[in-house]
Amino acid sequence: MGIKPYEKDKPFVYDLNWDEWQSWVKENGESAFRAGQIFDWLYIKRVFSFDEMSNLPKALRDKLKDQFEFVTLSEITKYQSQDGTVKFLFELEDKNAIETVVMKHNYGNSICVTTQVGCRVGCTFCASTLGGLKRDLRPGEIVAQVVKAQKLLDETGERISSIVIMGIGEPFENYEATMNFLRVMIHPKGLNIGQRHITVSTSGIVPNIYKFADENLQVNLAISIHAPNDALRSKLMPVNRRFPFVDLIEACKYYIAKTGRRITFEYALMGEVNDQPEHAEELALVLKDMPLSHVNLIPVNFVAERDFKRTPRDDIFTFQRILEKGKINATIRREQGSDIAAACGQLRAKHMESSK
Ligand code: SF4
Repeated sequence: MGIKPYEKDKPFVYDLNWDEWQSWVKENGESAFRAGQIFDWLYIKRVFSFDEMSNLPKALRDKLKDQFEFVTLSEITKYQSQDGTVKFLFELEDKNAIETVVMKHNYGNSICVTTQVGCRVGCTFCASTLGGLKRDLRPGEIVAQVVKAQKLLDETGERISSIVIMGIGEPFENYEATMNFLRVMIHPKGLNIGQRHITVSTSGIVPNIYKFADENLQVNLAISIHAPNDALRSKLMPVNRRFPFVDLIEACKYYIAKTGRRITFEYALMGEVNDQPEHAEELALVLKDMPLSHVNLIPVNFVAERDFKRTPRDDIFTFQRILEKGKINATIRREQGSDIAAACGQLRAKHMESSK
C-alpha cells in the first residue's frame, strides 16, 4: 500500500518499538537492560543525541551512532491560534514539509500527526491531496512529531495525553509504519499514551479496516464517511470507487463485532452538497445497525483551492437533530485553530506555493 518510504542507509532511532530494541541489544551482544535504558533516553528523558545517553558505555553509544540516526525535524514555521492551538510546519531531512498540530482542551493536550508527505486519496474537500503523494513517512518520522512537541510542552510542565492520526496522509495506506508508531506510543516504558486516548482515522481503506480489527488493540477507529450513499461519496471521495460504500459498511460492522468498540464517523458538512435533511435521514438509516456508532459533524473549513460553502449554523443543528431522532449519537466538532489555516494540508500547500 502507498508508495515507498524515504530510503535511508540507517534506520531512525524512533523506528524501533520496544520488542525491536530488545532484539537489537541481544543481537549486538549487549545486556537486555540496555534496551530499557535506550528507551528511557528516547522517550522519558527525550534527548536528541547519543552523546547525552550518559549511562551507556561509550562503545555502545558508538555502535548506536554507527547504526542509527535521529530524525531531523526542523521547524519552518509555527502558528499559534488564539484558542491555544499550535500548528507546526516541519521540514524533514529530504526537505519535504509536514504539518503537526497541538490542541489544548480542558482535559489536556492532544496532537494530530501526519503519516504521509501529501496524500493520493484525493478527497475533494481536502488541501492535503493538492500536489498528490510524495512519499510515506517512516514510523520514526511519525514518532518524532510527538517527541518534538512533547519536548516543547516539557518547558511548561504539560503533557500530550491524546493522539489523533488525522493529519496529512491516509494512515491505512502507510499501515505498517502507523502500527509501529502506535506500538511505540502505547508502551508503558515510553510515552505511555493510553490506547483509548488514541484515534486513527481512515478514509475507508477496507482491507486494512479488517486488519486493524484483528490487531487486538484498544485504539479508537474513526471513519471519514462524509456522505450517506455510494453515489455522493464517490463524487466527494474517489477512494469510494476503489472500496465501495457497501463494502465499507460491512467492514465497519466486522470491526464492531470483532472489537466490541464503537466507531466515530467523521462527517464534514459541505453547504448544499451533503448537508440537507434527506442526507441526515439516509445516514441515520445506514448507521442504525451499528448501535455503538457516533457521528462527528465537522463544519467544513474553507480551502481556497476548493469551492465549498459553509453550512449555516441552524442547518448543522437540524442535521444533528435528525440523526439523534434516528438514535444515532451526534456531536458537532468545536472549531479549533480556524484563524491559522487549521484544515489539514493548508499550511503545507501555502508553503509549497511560496517555495516554487
Ligand atoms: S482527507 Fe485525509 S485521506 Fe482524504 S485527501 Fe485529505 S489527507 Fe488524504
